[in-house]
Amino acid sequence: MTTQWNHYINGDFVAPSSGEFIYEFVPTTGLQGDQIARGSAADVDRAVSSAAAAQPAWNARKPIERGRVLLAIARLIRANAAAFCAKEAEETGKPVKMAAFEIEACAQYFEYYGGLATAIQGETINLGPNYHAYTTREAFGVVGVILPWNSPLNQAGRAIAPALVSGNTVVVKPSEFTSITMLQLAEMAVKEAGLPAGVLNVITGTGKEIGEPLVKHPLIRKVAFTGSVRAGKEIGKLAADRIIPLSLELGGKSPNIVFEDADLDRAVAGSVFAFTVNTGQVCLAGTRCLVHQSIYQKFAKKLASAVGALEFSDGENFGLGPLTTKAQYEQVHAYNKLAIQEGAEQLVGGDVPSDKAGWYVRPTVFTNVNNSMRIAREEIFGPVLVLMPFKDEQEAVVIANDSEYGLAAGLWTSDLARAHRVAAQLEAGQVYVNEYPSGGVETPFGGFKQSGYGREKGLEALHHYTQTKTTIIRI
Ligand code: NAD
Repeated sequence: MTTQWNHYINGDFVAPSSGEFIYEFVPTTGLQGDQIARGSAADVDRAVSSAAAAQPAWNARKPIERGRVLLAIARLIRANAAAFCAKEAEETGKPVKMAAFEIEACAQYFEYYGGLATAIQGETINLGPNYHAYTTREAFGVVGVILPWNSPLNQAGRAIAPALVSGNTVVVKPSEFTSITMLQLAEMAVKEAGLPAGVLNVITGTGKEIGEPLVKHPLIRKVAFTGSVRAGKEIGKLAADRIIPLSLELGGKSPNIVFEDADLDRAVAGSVFAFTVNTGQVCLAGTRCLVHQSIYQKFAKKLASAVGALEFSDGENFGLGPLTTKAQYEQVHAYNKLAIQEGAEQLVGGDVPSDKAGWYVRPTVFTNVNNSMRIAREEIFGPVLVLMPFKDEQEAVVIANDSEYGLAAGLWTSDLARAHRVAAQLEAGQVYVNEYPSGGVETPFGGFKQSGYGREKGLEALHHYTQTKTTIIRI
């Protein structure tokens, strides 16, 4: 029995003007799940118009009052965590315990930015006598948020909370593969947390049919996009035509460097986690593991045994889940095949468990790889690792930076001077030392190079949801 989900616009569930719905699929079985509304440009217009109508009153509220609503949303996410986790696990295939981490992170975004409501401040500028000059940070108006499927509510909170607290209203387009928890969150925010109707709207459907019309809509004044480089480029062109600000949180092929002075067992465990967490469907995954040649053989042996021992989750507890979409499953297999064609050797993994019906694949590690092979350069977005030796610190940095991406980088060492020296040279938006990944809602996140621009998380994200006005008064 499947449920049909409508858009959430202006505080109500609204049927799609097309009258059509799209099936989501359940990754643990590969079978059809619930249906979501197939949105069109007319639905986009309805949602954006509602958001535009609600924006002046929301923006006119005292910041501390907006903050209180966000804190209420955080409390309600925690109070309803079990239900959110169950639905998110169903839509993405991730184990419930993994979903719980992400739902908690979503609550923390609302808590963190809700608490910062009164810290959005301008400054005064001394122009000498007879002048009073000051800056204010003002909302853009309506912000469009476009999201991927790998961590639906985690990514939603990251963009929506700073947008709302700054006085913007929001239209969200979640991924067509995982839209339902976002609809549930918006309804809860309006019905239970006191968010006024129209301040947060959710439209569902495909990138072409509603993503593009959302970016093109004349009342959208800023877009926050998280997803692939391919879609990021298309959206970038549309945003350039309209001269609207855009933040792009895109993909990665992040290096994870293990030096000879690292705590080997911790480095092995951390490196396994870095490429298998969320079954490798993480933008910051450490998928290029660079290991000093003096410990390479030993490290490879320990890594192979740790990867071989990983187990699939029972759906509740930690462990590996399936890939979230069929296309992703096929992509991982295609890259595993390509790796062999390119001359790489499979150290461990790659096979499909015979007792699982859904889109499962065992994590795979390849050796005999060089950094010019496609499997070392392209984002696979699955549990696939390439292992490469390096001879010294300088070579490690050269290989690490030889990538079109620059989202994250890790390094393992017991030498503090080396940690700082290497971190300073890595071209990445986040660098982790002796843990992968690391940080929290407080630590700015975003890419160098093709991994995007703009920053989410931390105080810095607030600046991306406000524009500065300078007022100069001749007294
Ligand atoms: P995707 O680019 O295919 O889709 C992302 C969203 O964009 C979806 O909602 C989709 O419907 C929409 N979309 C697609 N084409 C569009 C277009 N032309 N115009 C407007 N909207 C469009 O990405 P995905 O497969 O959902 O997610 C995986 C990608 O996301 C990976 O590359 C991953 O690295 C990246 N990602 C990045 C971060 C980050 O913070 N940097 C976080 C998570 C995922």
